[in-house]
Amino acid sequence: MTPTTASFSSVIPKKIRVIGVPLDLGQSRRGVDMGPSAVRVAGLEARLEALGHMVEDGGNVSVAIAEQKKEGHPHAKYLKEITATCVKHAELMIKTLESGKVPIVLGGDHSVAAGTVAGVAEFYRRQNQKIGLIWIDAHSDINTPELANILNFSPKVSPENCVLVGVRDIDAVEKENVRQAGIEVFTMRDIDERGMRTVMEEALRMAGRGTAGYHISLDMDWVDPEDAPGVGTPVRGGATYREAHLAMEIIADHGRMLSFEIVEVNPVIDEHNRTAELAVELTLSAFGKKIL
Ligand code: MG
Repeated sequence: MTPTTASFSSVIPKKIRVIGVPLDLGQSRRGVDMGPSAVRVAGLEARLEALGHMVEDGGNVSVAIAEQKKEGHPHAKYLKEITATCVKHAELMIKTLESGKVPIVLGGDHSVAAGTVAGVAEFYRRQNQKIGLIWIDAHSDINTPELANILNFSPKVSPENCVLVGVRDIDAVEKENVRQAGIEVFTMRDIDERGMRTVMEEALRMAGRGTAGYHISLDMDWVDPEDAPGVGTPVRGGATYREAHLAMEIIADHGRMLSFEIVEVNPVIDEHNRTAELAVELTLSAFGKKIL
């Protein structure tokens, strides 16, 4: 654990590439394909640059739209299309990391993470290093077995370096899957009882143990719908505005984040783009913005 010694307003400048993945084939409610635009409109690039970072926008990964495609099996309707997108996206992640840039991925639904994690894990695997994964989400949709084989290696992340934070909506089958996967889970109850700071410090320690660092996958539905109404699947009882910022600030303090991802912003059900605005604010906190 690295205690923060940075004085106020000092941010270590990073080279960042923003990558949009407007995928909404992984879920039934439509609209998260507009997430990347909504987050760009909320000023992501300019506000990161104002913080001292160098940002380039890598555009969007091309994605099939539902209307073009025939549905497959009801439980994984567009698996072929999702896999094709994730493979392209994973290759772009590798190129981005090879060029020394930190990727910020804008979803899209959470299935984009299969591509993100595959790409980051593969880049570090080529250097004989492992990565950790912090999955911050109301749900436990971390396990999509059909997508686990992207880039033909698995597991992408060892279970002991994989941490789920903020879960509050989980069915019996998912509970069993999570237990069997052997990954660490901090539920909203853990956050209520032990506080965000303790939970995040533990989560980062687990993800960071023996790894090059970790990928942060942030599903905006983790935040309470009070502050983030425009998400794929809103569930009450989420993190407060300040808890969410604190979690991101602690991530920035530790300085070991390899890549960052915001998913499930849905402008169709949002209120004047406030969920995308919050997504930008949280990204700024994760990239070093401090109150003082
Ligand atoms: Mg999710």
